[in-house]
Amino acid sequence: MNTFNFKKRYGQNFLIDKNIVNKIVDTIEIKPNNLVIEIGPGDGKLTTRLCEKFDKVLCYEIDKELKDELDNNLKNYSNYKIIYNDFLKQNILDDIKEIDYDNLYIIANLPYYITTPIIEKIIETNLDVEMMRFMVQKEVGDRICAKANTKEYGSLTVYLNYNYEIKKDFIVKRNSFIPKPNVDSLIVSFYKKEKKIIKSEEKFYKLVRDSFKYKRKTLKNNLKDYDYCKIEKVLIKNGYKENIRAEQLPIEVFIEISNVI
Ligand code: SAM
Repeated sequence: MNTFNFKKRYGQNFLIDKNIVNKIVDTIEIKPNNLVIEIGPGDGKLTTRLCEKFDKVLCYEIDKELKDELDNNLKNYSNYKIIYNDFLKQNILDDIKEIDYDNLYIIANLPYYITTPIIEKIIETNLDVEMMRFMVQKEVGDRICAKANTKEYGSLTVYLNYNYEIKKDFIVKRNSFIPKPNVDSLIVSFYKKEKKIIKSEEKFYKLVRDSFKYKRKTLKNNLKDYDYCKIEKVLIKNGYKENIRAEQLPIEVFIEISNVI
């Protein structure tokens, strides 16, 4: 890795602290006949631990120049496959349909420039995932885990918490990487959960996106194209005034609104 030309455009900050790698993987409780997907294996430090712990490992790496390094670092394992392509362009369902597994996991030290698109793609693909554990920029992790009425609370918070039980695990300091990034990171875990009944997920996602479109505007102004009378009824029933902002509303109220519009 000493001579490797790290590519900033691919968000290449590789973990160098083996203790962190172990801490990420060792605390995951796995069920039998499992498959883990890793996005962005880099030089394979995390991948090695995944190959030891999981039955099957499927990786997506955009940078083909890492192939020799990965082949070499993973030479002791045969339970993995690496697809050298952009994860966002792959059809994941196609990629996994031939693989025999019962329980799916997704683990990644995410490339920060596309954290949200990656998470959105996973949700939209409707994969039945047992749990996911991601390393994200600390600030993004704070947004993912935010509570209503805080400045970090946004559409990402709402649709992630609708889909998963989310837990902040631990902070990873910037000096655990090469090259050293400008920010600290956070490990966040997402667990499968019973979802609340919703009439149309498409409608719900659109409502959430529209509600947070302009953060300074009130909900009413952001939802000008909606029949606001119906929304107002839900707000009043839940004890909210009509001039509230989206960031003040908990997920349950968004769900209730999406079921009446
Ligand atoms: N897993 C390694 C680690 O923990 O040290 C590397 C993590 S590094 C933050 C992100 C990795 O994602 C890099 O290897 C980068 O090349 C890869 N990557 C970036 N964009 C990608 C994409 N669109 N699809 C697949 N891999 C991508």
